[in-house]
Amino acid sequence: MATREELEQRIIEAIDLHRELILEVAETIRQNPEIAFQEYQASALLAASIQKFGYEVEKPIGGLETAFRASRHGRSDGPIIAVLAEYNALPGIGHGCGHNLIAASGLAAAIGLSAVMGEIPGIFEVIGCPAEEAGGGKIVLQQAGVFDDVDAALMVHHAGHQTGVGTRYPEGTCLAVTELTFEYFGKPAHAAADPQNGINALNAVIALFTGIDALRQHVPMETRIHGIITHGGDAPNIVPHYAAARFYVRAATLEDLERGAARALGQQRLKQALQGLAHEPGLAVDQKDIGGRGFRAPAPGVLQPPRKLPEGDLGHAAPPLSPRRRGDRRPAAGGGAHGGRRARPPR
Ligand SMILES: [Zn+2]
Repeated sequence: MATREELEQRIIEAIDLHRELILEVAETIRQNPEIAFQEYQASALLAASIQKFGYEVEKPIGGLETAFRASRHGRSDGPIIAVLAEYNALPGIGHGCGHNLIAASGLAAAIGLSAVMGEIPGIFEVIGCPAEEAGGGKIVLQQAGVFDDVDAALMVHHAGHQTGVGTRYPEGTCLAVTELTFEYFGKPAHAAADPQNGINALNAVIALFTGIDALRQHVPMETRIHGIITHGGDAPNIVPHYAAARFYVRAATLEDLERGAARALGQQRLKQALQGLAHEPGLAVDQKDIGGRGFRAPAPGVLQPPRKLPEGDLGHAAPPLSPRRRGDRRPAAGGGAHGGRRARPPR
């Protein structure tokens, strides 16, 4: 029976042995960026690469075409440990914060664990999670029951100066988030020949940004409000008849978001709408709470900085696997402990 240290060493050696493949997958995904829910090439490449290491791949899952689950049995049906891979990019930017590296880290974990699964209990999975820059893919998967029988899910998010947009994250933090859009509808007119007959929707968006900046001193601690103008007009010589902005609002907890930041912003939005209408007769406003990405921030201490790894490792996941069995709760659907499929809840 190998010791834990020996198993860890074998995991690291397997990852080192396939270093070139892991880097190639990361680089291929970086060079072919696909935005939320469109990650067809990335998810296919990642799932196929993991499959070569003895994993059973289910694709699609959870109703998302670019989601997948790759699983490999150990010596028993539990615990089930999942590493979450991401692979979507940002529109116009590409892989800004390095989700291609999160994908390759999932592959590295799969390769590493494939070297020891015959000797340890449980099931190891890589779950391919689409749409993490926008759209909240994991929330969709969670609502579809994809994580129902997962005992622990792990993921890494890279930071540093070598991703597309250099980022330094404080350790151990995570914020709840929601999305808001604002649309203003005015009236077009020629900006030189007929300006007095235009109703300027861009002015309302600029007033909205100023109002939100004034609001910052009245929101709960840890609140972040950041947005962009997604439409500011069509030509400088035309009074903008349509303007739009999109914001993310983040807070320490979902409760803070709902009770504090979002509500304060809601009041602000109302005020702005009234101000805009007062300043510009005929200006209409349409404001939507998208809200699809609202989630509960984890309890303090759940998020952990990664362990120090030997130099040269891309990353690996070696959870301390407990010998607890789950066979009594959910027997394998057939094929026994090695390679047998588990019964899963419908989704
Ligand atoms: Zn990211």
